[in-house]
Amino acid sequence: MPELPEVEIVCRRLDSALRGDEVMSALAPGMNVMKTFDPPLETLGGRAVTGVRRIGKMPVVELGDLSLLIHLMSAGRLRLFDKHASPKDRASRVLIRLAGGRELRLREFGTRQRAWARLLPTDAVAEDEAVARLGPEAWPAPPLERFAALVDQPRHLHPLLRHQGDIAGIGRSWVDEVLWEAKLSPFKKGSELSKEEVERLHAGLAVLGRAIDHYEETIGADLPDKLPMPLQVHKREGEPCPRCGTTIEAVYFSEHQTNYCPAEQTGGRILKDRRLSRLLK
Ligand SMILES: [Zn+2]
Repeated sequence: MPELPEVEIVCRRLDSALRGDEVMSALAPGMNVMKTFDPPLETLGGRAVTGVRRIGKMPVVELGDLSLLIHLMSAGRLRLFDKHASPKDRASRVLIRLAGGRELRLREFGTRQRAWARLLPTDAVAEDEAVARLGPEAWPAPPLERFAALVDQPRHLHPLLRHQGDIAGIGRSWVDEVLWEAKLSPFKKGSELSKEEVERLHAGLAVLGRAIDHYEETIGADLPDKLPMPLQVHKREGEPCPRCGTTIEAVYFSEHQTNYCPAEQTGGRILKDRRLSRLLK
């Protein structure tokens, strides 16, 4: 699932590739993808792309006073192609055909159709419910005082940091990296953090900026569907911790997992494997 660093680099690359390009036509082969109907998507014909930016994990394609707000969900990808999609491409959700033959394509892999887009007046994007409910951006990190207030909740850090209404941009991959960087347990509660731990967690958000820098250096104009993510601990169970050499452990949930270094994050404790409860469901 693309998270803040991945969506940021995609938007930066699309912004430089598309800015100024004229839209020939726009259509939505994904029957359920458009969550707005007025103005219709076809209205974009003849407009120029004025920018591509990111809000949380959502790309926004700006076309003058209209903007296409996109939620990729878990399997959506936004990518520029040199040619038009084949009508047989079942992954196509939104196609924006550009002068010169290129095509900006929202595709979605897998069977579930969950990615969505809304065509909104540009000055109304901030009030859209998906945007208005977001907490501050995780990168650049919010001021320490604001961050301290938002994590001061009796909830485990792993779900808390992924909750977009509290802080925007972190998902299942980067939460493990932030917590590993901060040397904090995913099951520690936000309200139980000492002042020093809050500061460490706040400093841990820097992994997001470092990931963006890494993508800037390694990703060219042609974006792959799946970026090679510079992850140190996420999904690396069984491997040595890059910092201390202890074996990375995992806790599995029904649809995701969290990885951690027991020596540095849980005081040496191996956390209970939750897979059994999944099997019993
Ligand atoms: Zn370690």
